[in-house]
This record gives sequence, structure tokens and C-alpha cells, in this order.
Amino acid sequence: MGTSNDVETREFDALIVGAGLSGIYALYHLRELGFTAHVVEAGQGVGGTWYWNRYPGARCDVPSMEYSFGFSPELEQEWDWSEVFPPQEELERYFNHVVDRFDLRRDIQLSTRVTTATYDEDAAQWGVETDVGDCFRVRYLVMATGCLSAPLEPQIPGRDAFSGTSLFTNRWPKDGVDFTGGRVGLIGTGSSGVQATPVIAEAAAHLYVFQRTPSYAWPAGNRPLDPDLQREVKRQYRALRAEQRRNHGGVVGTSGAIAVPLPRDVKILEASEEERRAAVDELGWAACRAWSDVLSDLEANEAGAELYREMVKRVVVDPDAADGLSPRNLPIGCKRPILHTDYYETFNRDNVTLVDLRRGGIEKITPNGISTAQGDFDLDVIVYATGFDAMTGALDRIDIGGRGGQRLRDAWAEGARTLLGVQTAGFPNFFTVTGPGSPSVLANMVVCAEQHVEWIGDCLVYLREHGYSTVEPTREAQDAWVARVNEVAQGSMYTAPTCNSWYLGDNIPGKVRVFLPWVGGLPAYIEHCEQVVAAGYEGFVFA
Ligand code: FAD
Ligand code: NAP
Repeated sequence: MGTSNDVETREFDALIVGAGLSGIYALYHLRELGFTAHVVEAGQGVGGTWYWNRYPGARCDVPSMEYSFGFSPELEQEWDWSEVFPPQEELERYFNHVVDRFDLRRDIQLSTRVTTATYDEDAAQWGVETDVGDCFRVRYLVMATGCLSAPLEPQIPGRDAFSGTSLFTNRWPKDGVDFTGGRVGLIGTGSSGVQATPVIAEAAAHLYVFQRTPSYAWPAGNRPLDPDLQREVKRQYRALRAEQRRNHGGVVGTSGAIAVPLPRDVKILEASEEERRAAVDELGWAACRAWSDVLSDLEANEAGAELYREMVKRVVVDPDAADGLSPRNLPIGCKRPILHTDYYETFNRDNVTLVDLRRGGIEKITPNGISTAQGDFDLDVIVYATGFDAMTGALDRIDIGGRGGQRLRDAWAEGARTLLGVQTAGFPNFFTVTGPGSPSVLANMVVCAEQHVEWIGDCLVYLREHGYSTVEPTREAQDAWVARVNEVAQGSMYTAPTCNSWYLGDNIPGKVRVFLPWVGGLPAYIEHCEQVVAAGYEGFVFA
């Protein structure tokens, strides 16, 4: 420890930023490997996503038994899950349990936001400062800041003028909200808005759902977790964890929780009208994706979308609302698939109105509510379910300076550039957990985070054992990886010409349009990570 200008400077081997599941595991793992580590977290509690997003209906869409840590067989055995898809409060409880179970809390500093991080080339250390005046000097900086943790503030005129209550799904009040008897306007129909709609509708006097783009959303089929099934999965946990890493999306499908069956080896473009209709009768919501060509061919995709719209018509009684809720000119598989409970059925309630913004957009927020080109809506509460500055937003909000004073936000101005999503050239000993260029948001994030943290841990041990002080990627290896990530994404619905999504940065005005995650699946990605290590950390320079 040292002091300068009366501010105590604390030193650790590693500073971990963020106490979501990535930061929690990073702290556990680095400690186990014998490094001193300290976590700094902006929130007042741990759990990251599951601390902040406590809106009504918030729930994971990966089965609980798979959206959980695999690093401790004891933890796996002693924790019981209540439902197939766990609600926010259960996940928050689980991550708090993990923190206490492994005595991690003493090294987690809450209510503290990292504001700057500057690399000192002479000392080969990072100097880190926070909004409450801390100074840290550390050898390694591990950014566990989250892919979906920087809230998007929609630029709607008059937002501050509203005299009622304004709420954001991604920083929901800890004490909850009582909607009883209130007129509520909800803006946004991504995963958060779709999950919140049915629950808010239960309590509110009236709910207006302001929808700019209709979603593709499938019934989750959530239910209490069968205790026998839970025991059975627990017996096979080691095999399941290995299988997750061999699975494209890191989800094996325990608990019979696969809502959308795998595509059949039949092309929709080769199926007759009768065969397509029969698929809807037989498979319901799953029919639209149950063909081998729907996610690879735009014409087939549109044929699949037609089956989806048919399902909307079958469930939503009011033809006008059904039409409004029907996605058009948007490929299935462009945006993240949504799992829901009773979303479409909710529009059959008398106290719920869809405001289809395609028929006239939001013009401004007024003291009384929301004013649109199709009329004014008087409200007591506005809920913004408007999403995140994804993938890069949390890092962009920190002033990060690498070698030669180069800023990370400048280095990434034309799109994030990393090797394997874990490191960036010019930023030695700076690690990103589930960073851009890794599978991250396209797979089970717990599996992704564990694999990344373990890779980073191995790398730090390698540094220690070989007496090196720094590691960073070469520009050539990084360029090659960025090119590979782009190449793999081409031809998928994620990058289709009519697709716009947060994966591409489309939801942030002025953000460069680049597809950032690795689409090629976990097994290929993990194999690549392992090959790099086997080849003596090929593409990385140690000094
Ligand atoms: P986070 O949980 O986002 O944690 C990052 C933490 O870093 C936050 O607590 C934040 O406060 C902190 N932080 C950021 N910047 C700073 C700073 N400058 N200083 C200090 N602290 C900082 N993924 C799935 O795989 N399945 C799902 O079903 C799923 N559901 C989701 C539901 C919601 C509502 C959201 C928003 C995301 C969901 N995700 C899901 C993605 C989810 O983000 C990941 O699964 C996982 O929680 C990420 O963990 P993390 O620790 O990497 O990041
Ligand atoms: P999102 O998917 O980005 O959705 C934001 C919604 O707000 C979109 O419908 C968007 O419309 C709308 N919107 C944004 N600005 C608007 C404006 N100015 N006027 C009108 N509408 C506006 O955000 P999210 O729902 O929070 O989800 C983000 C991600 O978090 C998900 O994709 C998923 O990865 C994760 N998540 C998962 C779950 C889960 O089921 N486990 C739950 C919640 C979140 P446009 O589409 O037209 O832009």
C-alpha cells in the first residue's frame, strides 16, 4: 500500500470490475490460483444482471439447472431450483449464496464505479480510479463489466417532463412497484418488455404497450421443476457440464425445456401450403422454425414468418391487435429469440391496449403521459423497457488508456477489436470476460463466463511460471480473429440486410454497425482457444 495526495493506493495482483456471475467466479478462481484479487461493483448488491433487472416477470430463459455454476460439485448438489426457468429473485439469491458459501464478500466492494483505468508502461501496472475516490494499482485488470449492463436512455423529447413515475426495467427499484389501479405505459417489446407485459397487466388498471417493432416470441413452457428430474440431473452433473461445452449454445436441454424443436430435415420452400398448415396444427408456435432452410435462406425465412403470423392470429382475438403484433420485414433469427409466459394471451384482456407505433410514432413525453402521432395517452407510470448499449457500452463508459495513452474507445471506434474476445492489442494485462469476439450473448452466459475465467486464470499462471510481466495480442493475430468473426457471421440471419438489432449496435444512434459476437458456436470457439494455448499462446506476446 502507498499514499499520494492523501489518497490511499491499494495494490492487488488483479482488480476485477463487476460482481455479476463473471466477476464472482473470477474472484473465486483467481484466489484459488493464489492471486490477490479485489472486486469493484457499481451496484449495492452482487449478481449483476440479476441484481439490476428486478422488473415484474424477469426470468432466465436458460433452464435453471444449466444456468448455474459448474465449478463446484458441492454447490451443484446443495442448491435446489424451484422452476424450470428461474425467476430473478431466485437467481439473485443463488449468486448471494455463492458469494457467502465461498467467503467472497470480504473482497467485494459495492456501490463503487470504476471511472478510469490507465496503463503505466514503466511499472507494467494498471492505475484504476473510482467515483468514490479509490486508487488501485494492479498487475492485471479483469473487466467483468457485462455485455448487457449499460442502460440505453432513449432520446425521447420531454422525458423529464413526465409528472408521474418513470421506471427502467434495467434498474428497477429494490422495493418493487405497486401498479394497482394505475394507468401504465410500457415502451419496448424486446425480451424485457415481453416478460413484464403479462405481469404488469395483472395489476394495472390499464396497460398500454408501445411497440415499435413486433417481436418473435415463443411460449417458455415454464413450470415447477420436478424433484425426481432434479435429482436425476444432479446425478449426471459432471457429464452434463462437459456436454454443455460441446453444445453450440451451451444448453443441453435438461428438464425437457426445449421450447423450439430442432429443425426437421425438410425445407419449407419444398413444402406445399397444406404441409405448412399441417405443421402449424401439429407444432403450434414452433412450426415457423421447424425447417432446415428457415435460418439460412431469406425466402424460406419469410415463409416461416408467415406461419408465425398465423399463430398470432390464432391466439390474439382482436384482428387489429393481431395484425399489430405480427412481425413484418424482419427475419426470424435476426434479433434474440424471446421466451415468454402468456404474452400474446395478455392482449385478449380488456385492460390491455397495443399501441402499434408503426401507425404513428412517439412524438414526446408530456407531463400527463405519452404523445404520439396517433393520439395522446394519459398515464400514471411509464416503464422503459428500451434495452442496453450492448457488448461495448459498459467499457465505453470507463476512460481506459493503454500503451502510449491510446484510449480503448478510440481503438474500438470502428467496432471492437479483440483476440478471442479476451484481450486487445495495445492494452497489456487487460482482460475482458465474455468480450466482443467471443460467443457470449449467443450462448449460455454462465458456461461462457466460466470458460473465459478459466482461460484467463491459466494465462496468468503461465505468466507467473515463466516470469513474464505482461501479455497482449499481436495486431496481426487480432486482425485475423476479427476477420474470422465477421466471416462466420456472414450468411446468417443476424447480418441479413433487413435485420437491425443490438447485436449490430443498431439500437444506439451513431454506433458503428458491426456484428460483434462469435456465431460459430461454443465447441469451435473453445477448440480455437485450446489450440492457441497448445501452440504456446499463439498470437499473444509475453514480455
Ligand atoms: P453482468 O451480470 O451484467 O454484471 C456486470 C456488472 O458489472 C454489473 O453489476 C455492473 O454494475 C458492473 N459494472 C459495469 N461497469 C462497471 C464499472 N465501471 N464499475 C463498477 N462496476 C461496473 N443470459 C443467458 O445466458 N440466459 C438468460 O436467460 C439471460 N437472461 C437475461 C435477462 C436479462 C434481463 C438481461 C439484461 C440479460 C440476460 N442474460 C441472459 C445475459 C446476462 O447478462 C448474462 O447471462 C450474465 O448475467 C452476465 O453476467 P456478467 O457477470 O458477465 O455481467
Ligand atoms: P431490447 O431487446 O433491446 O428491446 C428494447 C425494446 O425497446 C425494443 O422493442 C425497441 O424497439 C424498443 N425501443 C427502444 N427505444 C425506443 C424508442 N425510443 N421508442 C420506442 N421503442 C423503443 O432490450 P431488452 O428487452 O432489455 O433485452 C435486451 C437483451 O437482454 C435481450 O435481447 C436478451 O439478450 C437479454 N434479456 C433476456 C431475457 C430473458 O428472457 N432471459 C429477459 C430480458 C433481457 P426496436 O426493436 O424497434 O428497436
